Amino acid sequence: MSDLNLRIPGPVPLPEEVLQATGRQMINHRGPEFAEIISRMTANFKTVLGTRGRAYFLTASGTGSMEAAIVNTLSSGDRVLSISIGSFGNRFGDIAEAYGAEVTRMESEWGEAADPEMVRRTLRSMPDCAAVVVTHNESSTGVMNPIEQISRVVHDESDALVLVDAVSSAAGVPLPMDDWGLDVVGTASQKSWIAPPGIAMIAMSDRAWRAHETSTIPKYYFDIDQYEKFLQIGQPPFTPALSTIYALDHSLQAIIDEGVEEVLTRHAARAQQTRNGAKRIGLEIFPDESIASDTVTAIRVPSDVDGKAMISHARNVYNVELGGGQEKLAGQIIRIGHMGWVMPEHIDESINAVAKTLSDLRNK
Ligand SMILES: *Cc1c(COP(=O)(O)O)cnc(C)c1O
Repeated sequence: MSDLNLRIPGPVPLPEEVLQATGRQMINHRGPEFAEIISRMTANFKTVLGTRGRAYFLTASGTGSMEAAIVNTLSSGDRVLSISIGSFGNRFGDIAEAYGAEVTRMESEWGEAADPEMVRRTLRSMPDCAAVVVTHNESSTGVMNPIEQISRVVHDESDALVLVDAVSSAAGVPLPMDDWGLDVVGTASQKSWIAPPGIAMIAMSDRAWRAHETSTIPKYYFDIDQYEKFLQIGQPPFTPALSTIYALDHSLQAIIDEGVEEVLTRHAARAQQTRNGAKRIGLEIFPDESIASDTVTAIRVPSDVDGKAMISHARNVYNVELGGGQEKLAGQIIRIGHMGWVMPEHIDESINAVAKTLSDLRNK
């Protein structure tokens, strides 16, 4: 199965040299070599995000970064505005609620982006809002939120922190954290960062750090105090997923060496290629193209074919693994992931597989 074209929105396929990095022998995570690795990774991660804030690596999936954002900045009973445009947006609101926040939910139709002016109106009705939780790139619908405008509105209207699920956007689309006033950005190794699953990353502004100092939500494993304290001596508080760390260290350096701008431009080009390809074979992009994601493309399944059958046929016959629709979009959309190290031929191959799958299913 080595030539499977894995086109889901994470985990992403890994180039040979990253696979080799994961195969390295274990080291002492409290030794000098690890200290060197963690210091290089922290600096590179902050460079990619354009932040002078703090940054930490947690052993968790992406959801761990969302949970860390909540437990480290909020207190039980805090009012939170959850902006949701899909299933990951709902998850962020659910996590806040699970920890006792009082969550107001602002939801958009799936396939649409959040409207910054609606955020403004909603915030005016909640003057004591402590934080806004919002997805940057909604992987379930292939929509990118106008996160810069949303952040601007939040800071105009309130003292609320802006906590961003950037799991599927960071390192794939522009996200200058400090310039855009984002307070916590969470992401994960298996997305555009081109590493295996296992490491969640978070970056925090000074405002977020100050909120952390008074946050009373109970926490232990994700308590950022421990990560900060240990980082000072070049260590993690707990044993990290070392194999993933090796790969992520390699990939972070590769991103810096290629150039952040170049990496983002490459993602935009593959996204455009995917949208053009889908349209060329007669398919419709699920969201309006002006808000379409540059890391995952959602495509409407034509009404005369079964979306689930498309996914299994493309897998079984053409060796292309597509993403399906989640929850209420099950069977209605297919998703093509193009985050990470993606070449034009991977996209061509995926579009061809979709075209041939459609024709096979229609002529059965
Ligand atoms: C992948 C993803 C997550 C995290 O998923 P995990 O399975 O916990 O890694 C969160 N938000 C978005 C938008 C994602 O795409």
